[in-house]
Formats: sequence, structure tokens, C-alpha cells
Amino acid sequence: MSDVILRNVNKIYPNGVQAVFDFNIEIERGEFIVLAGPSGCGKSTTLRMIAGLEEITSGDLIINNKRVNDVAPRDRDIAMVFQNYALYAHMTVYNNLAFSLLIRKVDEDEIHRRVMAAAEILGLVPYLNRKPKQLSGGQRQRVAVGRAIVRNPIVFLLDEPLSNLDAKLRGTMRKELMLLHNRLNATFVYVTHDQIEALTLASRIVVMADGRVQQIATPKEMFDNPENLFVAGFIGTPPMNFFHGEISEDGYFIQNLPDEYNPKLEELASLEENKENLSSDELEKYNSLKKEIDEASLKCNKIKIADDKFAVLKEQGYIGKQVVMASRPEYVYLDDAHLAQFKDCVFDLDSDLDEMLGAYSLVYGKFGHENIIAKVSVREVVKSGEKIKACFDNSKLHFFDVDTTRRIRAEEYVGLPKEEGDEE
Ligand code: ADP
Repeated sequence: MSDVILRNVNKIYPNGVQAVFDFNIEIERGEFIVLAGPSGCGKSTTLRMIAGLEEITSGDLIINNKRVNDVAPRDRDIAMVFQNYALYAHMTVYNNLAFSLLIRKVDEDEIHRRVMAAAEILGLVPYLNRKPKQLSGGQRQRVAVGRAIVRNPIVFLLDEPLSNLDAKLRGTMRKELMLLHNRLNATFVYVTHDQIEALTLASRIVVMADGRVQQIATPKEMFDNPENLFVAGFIGTPPMNFFHGEISEDGYFIQNLPDEYNPKLEELASLEENKENLSSDELEKYNSLKKEIDEASLKCNKIKIADDKFAVLKEQGYIGKQVVMASRPEYVYLDDAHLAQFKDCVFDLDSDLDEMLGAYSLVYGKFGHENIIAKVSVREVVKSGEKIKACFDNSKLHFFDVDTTRRIRAEEYVGLPKEEGDEE
């Protein structure tokens, strides 16, 4: 059963800003949905529309099988936890927890039962008589969550609830929230700009950019198969490495020449267009340019594309076309075993810096003229400035269309309706 459904939801603020475009999702009971994306991408607006704090401009919001676009927040079966906790400073923890039930005229015994149950779950029993200012940040956060729990809602809405806590406490509270979610078996919709929070908490992540959903997927799916360049760059630390180049007929990715060759490439192309009518001077120019570029091209990195991926690229007409090739830092290897296994995917990585981060190291270097980061185990750490070989696991490489920014994948064009006027 879907607890929450958003269908073609749009939000245009009165000043004309469209904050959310055509948002669609069906959220099942017990899911932990994380809305993630950079500041200003429309996460909070989406959450606030579900909460009833912002009007929905168009589309449908269905909670528990009922269209609730026009239902008041307090009658929506939701409870919201805010970033700033919004606790009542003059009330004890007990009363903070009880307050929303009091104003709903819930029976006194029932209020006590629910407050004590929530306090028990959250470890707040010893603090029930304290005021918020006598609590630590983490305890205040727990009270804010407790105020949602006592309402016994179908859906918990959480807007960056951990962003006011220091890094260590955030980690602890993240774990607490996960345990709480498992225990309550309720549906959570959680907003964060922090992709690590998204990866660790979510059953499914919704990545947004500029008011539009970029991808909805499990953390693993999103990490392994990002739908477009935005998601690829947003999810994962350090982010994916991107390289620019062309697909060759014989199944290689051939890296582009550095940008400084662009004027020469353009000149060569324009001479080539007129090749029949070149003067002898122009012909000489053409030949020398061609020689220079051919020689430089020989030094460009060449990476063998895995057979199945090449078949897809070929089928979709990418031979001779520009693409972005992407590799997660986790799948760049420096060790001998991988270098032997992926010998068609080896390149020189001139490391200029490495960073030891506990169990692994980040090695910063070059793939041709482009930057690359490798995330390797500390055992493989190299000395900065050392000339070293590295390789990709080519089964893990992704290719993206430079114009649409979408990942090129087998299903891409299957079943898409034909555009009007398409040739049979
Ligand atoms: P996020 O939560 O991802 O940071 P928001 O949902 O707060 O993003 O904002 C999305 C966009 O809507 C931004 O461009 C923001 O400036 C705009 N916006 C948010 N609230 C309002 C408002 N009350 N009036 C006009 N524009 C708003």
C-alpha cells in the first residue's frame, strides 16, 4: 500500500518562482525516503507541500488513500520535525511532548501513556522535568523527534533535522534515527543536502536539481548506476571522475586532446572541408597541422571499453561521437593484480598529492590532461610526485551523452514512443 503519493506536483510561488516541477513518487509504508540535492533545489518546498505548510499549485497529494491537497496540516496524519527543533523554551520536556496532544484534546491517561512510551524509546525518561535549555543538542533533537512520535502519525516529515549538530553527534543521531525508523515501522520523508546522510539513511533517495527530480533509486542503485551527470557528481565522496573523449570504431574510449588544441582542430576541420580547392600554401598548412595533431593524438589515453558496454554504444550510434566517461574513485586501481587483469585500461597517473584517511587513501593525479582521484587501500599508498601506473575496472565505467547528460544504457531507447514525423 502506498502511504504517500505525489502525482504531477508543481509549485509556483506567488513571486513567479517555480520551485518544483512535475514531482511524481509513490511511497510505500515503512519506506525511508530521503530528498537530497543542493541548496535551493526544491527539497523543503516539496516536504512543506506534503506537510500542508505550502499550497500545491497543481497536481495531487494523496496520503493514506485520501487526496489531501486541501486538508489542514493538523488533519493530515503527518508529523514534522524541523531543523531548529521548534521546542517551547518555557515548558518541560514532558510538556513539550504532551502539548500537541493536549491541544487535540486527547484523553489525559492516553497522553501520559504516549509521552512515556516516546520518552522510553528516545532515552528521555531522566530528563522529563528539564527545560530545553538544560539539554544537550542531541537531547533537544530527541525531544523534537519525540513530539512527532507521540502524534502516532502515518508519515514523519523531517527537514534537515541533524544540521545543527556537530559531526560526531550527527553520526550518533543518524544511527538513532535508523533504529527508530525500524522500530516504528512508519514512513519517513527526510530532507538533506548531505549525500552521506542520504546514502546511509534512505531506503530510496530522490535526487533533485533546479526543482526537478533527477533520479529516484536505492542508495546502491544510485551509487552504481547514476542516471545522469548531475547525480553522478552529487552522490559519492570523492565524486566520480569525468573524462572527455570519443568512442572509436574498434571499441576504445579515446581521450580528447587538451583544450589548447581546439583552435588547431577547428582550423584543420575548416581546411578539410575545402580540401579539393586548397592553394599550395594551404595544403602545406593542412599537412603540417594534421601531422601535429596525429602525433599529439597518439599520446592521448586509450581505454578499452567492456564488450557489453561497447555493444550498447555502437547500437545507439555513438561511434565517432563525443561522450563523457566516468569512473568512481573506488574503481581506479594501482595494484599489480588489477593492472594485469585490466591491461587494456592502464594509464600513467602522475600523482601530485595523496591523503591518508584511516583505512584508505585518496591519490590525486592525472588521466592525461584531466584530473583523477583514486581511492585505494593504505597498503597501496604512493609517494607524491611519483610516476605510477593505474587502471580502471572497465566493467564499472559509465558513459554519458554530452548533450543530454544522461547515462547511455541499453534500455535507453527501448519502448520510447516515436516522435511525430519519425521515419519508419
Ligand atoms: P531547498 O530546500 O532544496 O534548499 P527550497 O525548497 O527552500 O530549496 O527552495 C526552492 C526554490 O524556491 C529556491 O529558488 C527558493 O529561493 C525558492 N523559494 C523558497 N521559498 C520561497 C518563497 N516563500 N517565495 C518565493 N520563493 C521561494
